[in-house]
Amino acid sequence: MKRLSIGMRLTLWYLAIFALGELVFGAGMWLILRHNVYDMVDDDLETQIQDLSTFLEAQKPDASLSKLQEEVKATFSLEHSGDYLQLYTENGDIIYRSAILETHPSKLARPARVTSASFWTRRIDGHPIRFMLDRLNINGRVFIAQTGIPADDAIETLHLFRMYLFMFAPALLLIAAGVGYWMSRRALAPVDALVRTAREIGGTNLSARLEKLSTGDELQRLSDTLNEMLDRIETAFQRVTQFTADASHELRTPVSLIRTEAELALRRSRTENEYQESLQHVLLEAERTTALIEQLLSLARADSGRETLHMQSVNLSDTLRSVVESWRQVAAIRDLTFSVSIDDQDAIVMGDETLLRRLADILLDNAFKYTSAPGRVALTMRLEGEVAIVNVQDSGVGIPTEEQDKIFQRFYRVDKARSRAQGGSGLGLAIAQWIVSQHRGTITVESRPGEGSVFRVELPRILVAEPKHQPA
Ligand code: ADP
Repeated sequence: MKRLSIGMRLTLWYLAIFALGELVFGAGMWLILRHNVYDMVDDDLETQIQDLSTFLEAQKPDASLSKLQEEVKATFSLEHSGDYLQLYTENGDIIYRSAILETHPSKLARPARVTSASFWTRRIDGHPIRFMLDRLNINGRVFIAQTGIPADDAIETLHLFRMYLFMFAPALLLIAAGVGYWMSRRALAPVDALVRTAREIGGTNLSARLEKLSTGDELQRLSDTLNEMLDRIETAFQRVTQFTADASHELRTPVSLIRTEAELALRRSRTENEYQESLQHVLLEAERTTALIEQLLSLARADSGRETLHMQSVNLSDTLRSVVESWRQVAAIRDLTFSVSIDDQDAIVMGDETLLRRLADILLDNAFKYTSAPGRVALTMRLEGEVAIVNVQDSGVGIPTEEQDKIFQRFYRVDKARSRAQGGSGLGLAIAQWIVSQHRGTITVESRPGEGSVFRVELPRILVAEPKHQPA
């Protein structure tokens, strides 16, 4: 079954609570009014009984039944206060009974049962009459008195009140339902607007945003949060689109080089040496393409969170010592001075050793690539507080200040032709930055064009308790 809308549910709740309130209030008011109205009539009845008592007190204590019958009749048959009067003795002998009660007799209550005053209402000839029954102890004799007064006014008042209540309560309820529905629609109208705009946002118009609300309530927070989320999605989407475009572009260059090389070689018959040279060019480009694809896949895995890291405590000092070994030969071939200084104290970090090696390789590769002979490359590692600091310094071409922020972006190269000639793809530093971030570290660069660059990596290290100094 389709669930009701929030607006409808709010209205129904509001209505139910309102109806309950109305019911409790109406019933309460009716009971209070009824009590007060009867109270007034009952007061009159009590006055009548009081008058009767005073009258009986004035009679002789030993007056006979017939004498009393005579006296009461003489006094009360003339007065209205006696219209519904019935008086009898403890033995049930009737002293007086009004003419109306003769024709509409009411049962005599057994005197023993009448201990205190009681009230009730009875209809006589269609008119409501309020009665009171009481026991009177006068001059040592017990009388049972029952008297009544017409209660038309009181009943009419109650009747009117009830009628108005039943007439106005549903009307009020209807008005409340209307107001409740209008209020909930008004409160939730911005949600409909948000839904409409959100529906229109797709891959092609990711720059569209939800209407900015300034209601200062939950709805404003919702639209702000959704807009922030859209900002993030748009940025991610743009990055992916850019990445795909750049990657395709980068892959097209080596593939067309391989193709040109093969076409040229096949244009006419060649000597074996020429074929070998062409194949070497093809092989070199194929190797570069493989390396590029490797880097692209690595970044794609990193983006999707599928690159699994094997985090364990790694001795960074040992890792660096083993990495630099393979670079000594490169330094010798390129005629560059390569100095290494690694702190005597071991640096233990929580990390993935393969990735840390890769990080060092990327930085050293760049340092060697962008430094021409006779130049210097230096790797140092020192401990400072809770971090291990690795510096890779070179005396190469350097990087202009305005470019220093951009070199960590994917495919960004300061000098595209130079970088490509050196075999660069513009992805190395992006990967380096990702590796550093996975190790909760930082990577920064300081450089001056023509003077060289220093790449500084800071990694948090695991603090090993210093061995306690043993007394000799
Ligand atoms: P590439 O594969 O092109 O070297 P990177 O992402 O490693 O890509 O580096 C991005 C760019 O930063 C390089 O193209 C180069 O212009 C610049 N760069 C990186 N390292 C150095 C360095 N040690 N000296 C000078 N320029 C550098």
